[in-house]
Amino acid sequence: MDKRAMPPFAVCGSLFQLVRCRGCHNTVIDPADVAKTIIDALESVEFEKRLAARLNKPRPLHHELMHLAIAGCPNGCTQPQIKDFAAVGQVVVDAGPGCTRCGACVKACPDDCISLGGDGPVLDRDLCLNCGLCLKACLEGVLTAAGRGCRVLAGGKLGRRPRLAATMVPVASREQVADSVRECAELFLARGRLAYCLRTGE
Ligand code: SF4
Ligand code: SF4
Ligand code: SF4
Repeated sequence: MDKRAMPPFAVCGSLFQLVRCRGCHNTVIDPADVAKTIIDALESVEFEKRLAARLNKPRPLHHELMHLAIAGCPNGCTQPQIKDFAAVGQVVVDAGPGCTRCGACVKACPDDCISLGGDGPVLDRDLCLNCGLCLKACLEGVLTAAGRGCRVLAGGKLGRRPRLAATMVPVASREQVADSVRECAELFLARGRLAYCLRTGE
């Protein structure tokens, strides 16, 4: 494979940097579609024009830009945990009737979240990352997608005071992703680096 064609893809505005994965066979969302949603939302609040006015300098520094990421699944290849704003693909798996006890879902789960009970698969919701690998492995159609969307994360950063992003919305629809990015953009514009604002709880 041509390495230049491999993920991640980056979209750089003058005052934000967004990186998204290609969306390999593991993806449970369309990363390009989520990227469009996020960029449209930033444009709807005139993010770059307003941040340029706030910073009022010809060459803003790296840490003054807003950093965003999209990952097609919980593997998080674009490092969403250390971004100001991120969207990570999620599929909420549900179990219906008809299990043949083949065990394919148990083998497919990398996190040992599934056990087979008398009535079929039992998912440990506390451990499950909503990656959907078990869903793809079940050829009987017992496992289904009860919900699909993005985990919205905000407030992650490295640098002088590193911290991991916190979850804003566990499984957000496209509209909720747009609302969340607008909310974070307003915080960023009002108070500077979002991570700092969230850390201090202002
Ligand atoms: S985040 Fe998931 S979908 Fe995106 S490249 Fe990595 S493994 Fe594939
Ligand atoms: S969605 Fe992923 S983490 Fe959750 S049970 Fe299925 S394979 Fe395991
Ligand atoms: S893969 Fe499907 S049929 Fe097989 S044990 Fe899991 S739920 Fe049952």
